[in-house]
Amino acid sequence: MIVTLRKLSYEDLKKKLKKEDKIVIWSCNNCVKFCNGLGGREAMARLKEKLEKDGFNVIHTELIGLSCVLDLVHLRALEEPTKTIFEEATVIIPLACEDGYENLKHVFKDKRIIDVPLTVGLGVFSTEFGALRLTVPFEDTGIEAKVEGIPLEEVAKKLGVYAGPF
Ligand code: SF4
Repeated sequence: MIVTLRKLSYEDLKKKLKKEDKIVIWSCNNCVKFCNGLGGREAMARLKEKLEKDGFNVIHTELIGLSCVLDLVHLRALEEPTKTIFEEATVIIPLACEDGYENLKHVFKDKRIIDVPLTVGLGVFSTEFGALRLTVPFEDTGIEAKVEGIPLEEVAKKLGVYAGPF
């Protein structure tokens, strides 16, 4: 499974948004759910609630099976009911890996896509630890692989980023 962390804290995220923005929160319903709950229905709902409390206008949350399938992302832009919603949106917050982020940038060229994800390698869900652990770090992370995997919080700390939901 793809392991993705978050480049931004919640405070960093807010600085990238304007009060007049029409925000869509976008999430895969797959790998990111297991990345300490970075994405998925609940993570989107919680982020929507936080942003609304802070006075931002979240117009929609979009859950998609796989953002890495470009055709699926395209359909959201082409077909109703999402076509109208995305026409109205000014910014999209992706809770997906870097592939998903790139697909969003490709499809929604006239929107600001917030650069949230840092994809760091492959992982497996450990029943022993009850969480996804990083087992095959990408070379550019400079992190050494461990057979038992590395907890995502530890990876995030090493890289100066964040693990889990906003
Ligand atoms: S876009 Fe990335 S996070 Fe989403 S399903 Fe595909 S590989 Fe997983």
